[in-house]
Amino acid sequence: MKNLSDVDSAIFNLINKEAMRQEDGIELIASENYVSKAVMEAMGSCLTNKYSEGYIGKRYYGGNEVIDEVELLAVERCKKLFGCEHVNVQPLSGSPANAAVYFATIKPGDKVLGLQLDHGGHLSHGHPVNFSGMLYNFTQYQVEKETGRINMEKVREIAMREKPKMILAGFSAYSRNLDWKKFKEIADEVGAITFADIAHIAGLIAGKAIDSPIPYFDIVSTTTHKTLRGPRGAIIMCKEAFAKAIDKSVFPGMQGGPHDHSTAAKAVTFEEALHPEFQTYAKNVIENARAMAAELMASGFKIISDGTDNHLMVVDVTSKGISGKEAEQVLDLVGISSSRSTIPFDPRKPMDPSGVRLGTAAITTRGFDIQDTKAVAKAIAQAIENPKDEAKLKSIRESILELCRKRPLYK
Ligand SMILES: *Cc1c(COP(=O)(O)O)cnc(C)c1O
Repeated sequence: MKNLSDVDSAIFNLINKEAMRQEDGIELIASENYVSKAVMEAMGSCLTNKYSEGYIGKRYYGGNEVIDEVELLAVERCKKLFGCEHVNVQPLSGSPANAAVYFATIKPGDKVLGLQLDHGGHLSHGHPVNFSGMLYNFTQYQVEKETGRINMEKVREIAMREKPKMILAGFSAYSRNLDWKKFKEIADEVGAITFADIAHIAGLIAGKAIDSPIPYFDIVSTTTHKTLRGPRGAIIMCKEAFAKAIDKSVFPGMQGGPHDHSTAAKAVTFEEALHPEFQTYAKNVIENARAMAAELMASGFKIISDGTDNHLMVVDVTSKGISGKEAEQVLDLVGISSSRSTIPFDPRKPMDPSGVRLGTAAITTRGFDIQDTKAVAKAIAQAIENPKDEAKLKSIRESILELCRKRPLYK
């Protein structure tokens, strides 16, 4: 980054500082990952200079013959990867993608059934402070108190009672597989549109490690930067019948010019995910998550739903006499990034809830195997059990550094 260091040493230094933080710390934030250098190069390319409002072959600006080829590659690779009928690769991020889906399919005031935020849903699934909750009439299903799992019979009961226009399946903090087929059957019973938000699990689906909603659902949105390991951004996949409405809703409905450098990076991401190694990656992410959950449970932690089928888990840390926020802070001290999280039926407040959410997508990219992952879980348990013991925390920090040096991020 020679030019950057000449022109703006302040930002250059901060980027280096952040690179060191990433290199020397363990990333367990379930929504994060590390992109390849190839993806970064596409993001940092001259494609950022271009305006290309519109779609392939139908742009509102000249000079888009190359961009058309870039977007076409992204579209074709995405269709091959997920087996979808149609895809819009222009959404700037997950929340705007979801806004485009709602605008394309339902009217303000219409009823939508989604997973409650503090049971694992996302802000854009109808939380009152979010546009989704302000514009649409959301009604919510929960997980069961005893099992921590979604009970499809309850979902069906609510759907029959509420008759939503749309049923939304997807989550940011739920560690079990969703029964896509059952969601579709319920939606058909009440005449609802089916919308899956696979932001967290798209990489596991692309890597064929868990089931896909694509065969069943009308519309599927996802971010590209979580388990899928691409640039920050999103895509919307749908059945042909919704293609026109979705495209119109993204542009000109919601957005102006697409970010062509991101589109190129998405195309690179799909190419990477089409390689057999990505399937190994997806499988390893889940194996690491299972190993971490098992190790934490062996150390006396309660994991919501007692384990995981995907890359993430929500850990109730209150049995160790500590809150989610305090756990997040003590883990930061030893070089482990996590995110505090509510647990279902949380007696504590959202700003300082009972849990932390942990995910294994990033460490698996970094090459952590089951042994490494178990060592991380042991370090988590020790740090949370000794939050005031400075000498202990210091020695845990050193062991974490050692692990990081053993598995360098960008070699
Ligand atoms: C992360 C996430 C989003 C939003 O993505 P942003 O790119 O942060 O806007 C939407 N839905 C779900 C389920 C998510 O987990």
